[in-house]
Amino acid sequence: MAEQPSVVIREIEKDRVDFVLHNVDLAMANSLRRTMLAEVPTLAIDLVEIDVNTSVLADEFLSHRLGLIALDSSGVEDLAYSRDCACDNYCVRCSVTLELTAKCDSEPTMTVYASDLYKINDSQALGKPVIRDPQGKGPIICKLRRHQELRLTCIAKKGIAKEHAKWSPCAAVGFEYDPWNKLKHTDYWYEVDANEEWPKSKNCSAEEPPDPEARFNYNAVPSRFYFDVETVGNLTPKDVVLEAIDTLQKKLAGISIELNKDAVERSNAQSGGFTTYKATDYGGQTPGADMGYGNNAYGGADTYGADNYEGTAWN
Ligand SMILES: [Zn+2]
Repeated sequence: MAEQPSVVIREIEKDRVDFVLHNVDLAMANSLRRTMLAEVPTLAIDLVEIDVNTSVLADEFLSHRLGLIALDSSGVEDLAYSRDCACDNYCVRCSVTLELTAKCDSEPTMTVYASDLYKINDSQALGKPVIRDPQGKGPIICKLRRHQELRLTCIAKKGIAKEHAKWSPCAAVGFEYDPWNKLKHTDYWYEVDANEEWPKSKNCSAEEPPDPEARFNYNAVPSRFYFDVETVGNLTPKDVVLEAIDTLQKKLAGISIELNKDAVERSNAQSGGFTTYKATDYGGQTPGADMGYGNNAYGGADTYGADNYEGTAWN
């Protein structure tokens, strides 16, 4: 039996995690990378109702800037997608409202920051702008001259980066395998000697250098994947990785459900009888069980063993 997949965390910071994923295939590792970049749900400003804008920025320009402000997305799983909600446009179950009022009454130019966005329901962190500068002001939204004014309401909604990059929880995801290029998946451009001209990856130190005398192994496959996930602050790096695994599992389970439904319908049609559709027990089959995420280095109650598919996704 093949070795179980495992994760080794090499470095972890507030907005960054560097880890090595072992014993999975390239397609699986790449799926995780793509899911972290594009399919982890977060919260971002999606609608802006402008009452007054006498600044030099056009309404559209301002709305775009507001959309790109990172908002605290902890607890976004409890928020519904607006398109799935029973309301007409938006409501408290599918959105978070922020307001901005700023007017410049003095001669020097006034700067409006993300910290000036005022959240209507201030009790939870969800939807608060992510502020990381020592002054506690956040990114600049715009500048106002004397007598210029801004009065607007922002509606933040849940979404994923596949729809718009503003929902991405990641600034960048570094991904590398085979740092010595033993598998020859890369062809380095060079003038005289590729080994001299290309800097070595820091991950080279984690693997044995190639033996120049050895014959090329056509059957070799990569099994160690070096990830460097940089987040934008709306979710912690740990949440980004775990949410991505969760999203990937749900997508695979979705395919499986559809295929099973089809099989049940076909067998019903053949027998002419009526069979109650039974959800397949995913405990033994999903990536959650097979790929061993329960054993990974994240440990504790957050691992996949705890919220396996048996209890949740089928309803
Ligand atoms: Zn709603």
